[in-house]
Amino acid sequence: MIDFHCHLDLYPDPSDMAQQCVSRGMYVLSVTTTPSAWSGSCARLQDEKQVRVALGLHPQLAKERKGELELFDRLLPTARYIGEIGLDGSPEYQAFWLDQLTVFNHILAACQSAGGRILSIHSRRAVPAVLDQLAAHQGAGVPVLHWYSGGVRDLQRAIDAGCWFSVGPPMTTSKKGMELLSLMPQDRVLTESDGPFSAVDGRNSFPWDVSRAEKQLGELWRTDAESVRESVRQNLSRLLKSFIGKEASNKPGTQR
Ligand code: MN
Repeated sequence: MIDFHCHLDLYPDPSDMAQQCVSRGMYVLSVTTTPSAWSGSCARLQDEKQVRVALGLHPQLAKERKGELELFDRLLPTARYIGEIGLDGSPEYQAFWLDQLTVFNHILAACQSAGGRILSIHSRRAVPAVLDQLAAHQGAGVPVLHWYSGGVRDLQRAIDAGCWFSVGPPMTTSKKGMELLSLMPQDRVLTESDGPFSAVDGRNSFPWDVSRAEKQLGELWRTDAESVRESVRQNLSRLLKSFIGKEASNKPGTQR
């Protein structure tokens, strides 16, 4: 079972949560919301091979944390995954839209010069702007749009631009979400929980709630949850393989 976007460090006991995921045989990508959270999260969570930590700067924190971009640049050579990054066009975050653009732009440019990364991207109410930025930074890496909630036309543009998608229970339990899912290429879909922020049955979600998304995807793809899990596993393996070889140039000390 794969959770390609969750926030293990925001659960009350992150290490315990990581252990519970490992004992369930899960593979988890734990995204961070600030560069200063990265090293601690790696030390606490990343001792197991199945748990990886992504280096991020969340768009909702762009204004207060843009000063951490320097730290982001220093950490980038050792980070294979980048997230959570992106843009948020919701009314409450529009006041610092320019800060969001500065931060996202900076991160994509840095990833571009570092040879590309796997990117977990937030695009709420901002899909066109996110796609514009990605188009302006070819070679920044493979964009994985997490919890896509835009329109159908923008979805097609994202597909054409080579985006992947990580999808979870909030999408698979809504009609609009399922409609969007039916349009996504099955070989570019990964599962996610976005825990603990997303809700399942009125409680905060856990990484293993992705099993609910697997079940719904099974109905959509006319197969069973087990086959969905296997397809998603193969998708992830293909995604990772496309990055093998790039890392040699990303080790500290060999940075250009
Ligand atoms: Mn998130």
